[in-house]
Amino acid sequence: MRDGILVINAGSSSIKFSLYLSNGDGKPVLSSKGQVEGINVAPHFIAQGADGTVLSEQRWPGDSNLHHEELLKHLIDWVEDHLEGAELRAAGHRVVHGGPKYSTPVLVDDEVLEELEGYVQLAPLHQPHNLAPIRALAKVHPGLLQVACFDTAFHTTNPKVATTFALPRQLTEEGVRRYGFHGLSYEFIARRLREIDPQAAAGKVVVCHLGSGASMCGIKDGQSVASTLGFTAVDGLPMGTRTGNLDPGVILYLLEQKGMNAKEIETLLYKRSGLLGVSGISNDMRVLLESSDPHAAEAVELFCYRICRELGSLAAAMGGLDALVFTAGIGEHSAPVREKVCAASAWLGVDVDPAANVRHAQLVSTPASKVPVYVIPTDEEMMIAKHTRNVVSKLRQAAE
Ligand code: AMP
Repeated sequence: MRDGILVINAGSSSIKFSLYLSNGDGKPVLSSKGQVEGINVAPHFIAQGADGTVLSEQRWPGDSNLHHEELLKHLIDWVEDHLEGAELRAAGHRVVHGGPKYSTPVLVDDEVLEELEGYVQLAPLHQPHNLAPIRALAKVHPGLLQVACFDTAFHTTNPKVATTFALPRQLTEEGVRRYGFHGLSYEFIARRLREIDPQAAAGKVVVCHLGSGASMCGIKDGQSVASTLGFTAVDGLPMGTRTGNLDPGVILYLLEQKGMNAKEIETLLYKRSGLLGVSGISNDMRVLLESSDPHAAEAVELFCYRICRELGSLAAAMGGLDALVFTAGIGEHSAPVREKVCAASAWLGVDVDPAANVRHAQLVSTPASKVPVYVIPTDEEMMIAKHTRNVVSKLRQAAE
């Protein structure tokens, strides 16, 4: 019988899902996807086929007080009705933090769940929302195998020097160090690049994951060696609403001189900064690129400038650059951002082909470019589906 794998990617106000059914070779193929949005406000469920056709939609009133469990029950009931004869084998979850321990996906049991709850302090804005559906699903569908796939796992290959803050040793030993995130996306891209350009993939590659969350990763011979994201998901590049790296002295200034408390500073750093904070207009790159407001142009300029600085830094960490890859919402769709970054990176051997760039071709550099530049769509959900299938297959083999 064919296998069904449900992939769950849950945030603070939405639960995204994708249903994969195995093909003749046992490989997962996307069958349907959707989400529950407006959790705690006015929940809205939508499910679509792989081609985007709307298959089902339901809204609940704002005062319906529906909890995670009831919404997940609705989602899982819908999924069970759309298995096309396959059997639902497992749910794979995106979990932002695997801490220092988890370098690979893991089957979740009570013990693992408790351990992952211990990492909530390391990712307070993401981890609780990632874990809530695991707990809810265990109640509404007891017995369903659940696999946690971590955004940090791909970066566990980073050398110690890349993960250590210059803090007293005891703090480092407690786990105050760089972890890096967006690992499922980088892992997917590293595998795709091996298919597209195996020679470059065996070398020194910088991948720019530029979405509403943005980061960059140095990948050497397929393994992560350095990342712009650190202890939390607010380091590195400026993002839609997050600051990116910041002199820690600014935090002290906000605390001592501005009288702000920790919660207010957290909101400032995560929700009111980045493209939104600098432009004062929007966190959406499309809006900023279309705006004639000089503050919008400043936000775009700062975003590109920071990417270029980090590119130099990652190339230095790897001792060179053999390929550059753009991915995620802005990386895949914004030709002007790629153009600005590539133009300023000519010193690294990057030569962008403007015509190819404007049409979002897979290869956007000229034949003369020493460093090929690729645009590769990412697919974190597919990565989770593959990991989950592998965990299930190993369990099955072990039971045989
Ligand atoms: P992601 O988090 O990967 O879904 O990326 C979301 C972000 O991608 C949005 O906030 C937009 O800023 C950006 N984006 C999507 N499409 C475009 C586009 N055509 N041009 C520029 N930015 C885009």
